[in-house]
Amino acid sequence: MLTESEILRYSRHLLLEDVGEIGQQKLKNAKVLIIGMGGLGSPAAMYLAAAGVGTLVIADFDQLEVSNLQRQIGYQTADTGSDKVKLMKQRLNSINPEIIVRCINRKMDAEQLSLELMMVNLVLDCTDNMHSRHLINAACVQAKASLIVGAAMRFEGQLIFFDHNQSDAACYHCLFPKSEEQVLNCSNSGVIGPVVGTIGTMQALEAIKYILGLPSGIKNRLKLFDGKTLDWQTFTVTKDPNCSVCGQKK
Ligand SMILES: [Zn+2]
Repeated sequence: MLTESEILRYSRHLLLEDVGEIGQQKLKNAKVLIIGMGGLGSPAAMYLAAAGVGTLVIADFDQLEVSNLQRQIGYQTADTGSDKVKLMKQRLNSINPEIIVRCINRKMDAEQLSLELMMVNLVLDCTDNMHSRHLINAACVQAKASLIVGAAMRFEGQLIFFDHNQSDAACYHCLFPKSEEQVLNCSNSGVIGPVVGTIGTMQALEAIKYILGLPSGIKNRLKLFDGKTLDWQTFTVTKDPNCSVCGQKK
């Protein structure tokens, strides 16, 4: 049952056939882990907090730097030097005091990550480098956790959903085998803020749809966003049976 204040807060959700009171209750019961509180994590976390996702676990080990503010819209200039997760927890609870926000203020190893995965329904990878994405992917494959990956660089964004609950799910390693690892990331190649914001917002949208049980447009489908033309391209990603992370022959 939703409280009177929740009915008021989520009135625009309750008007939607796809959400309604049952959907809002699903959001309230959901637990989502968001890894990375930068340009992707900021809008993703703020939209999920606003939507009433009951428990958000936010992970980052960085302090806010002035160069982050060009795209990491959850923060303020006066906050530079402080831990991002502490700042974001305050921000999320100021948007929505009805939700629980838990902080992980350190770099997680595979073991801690696998423990955290047991306690959530869904993971959003909002990190900014391939090394972290491969680590998170491997942990999610092992834990059969659902994973929404976002990435952005220059004027380009990427979005994909791997539902490791399902046996036909591909994984991040099927898509980008480590041998082809790129060393580029937004700290050495630059990125335009609204492209990161678009991808982070899409991660939140997919997360909400997943929790509500609505079909996803990006399950095993890589979406590439071109911030110059505003075109989206879609590529189907198939499971690699020889993948060293998710394949049978691993
Ligand atoms: Zn794979």
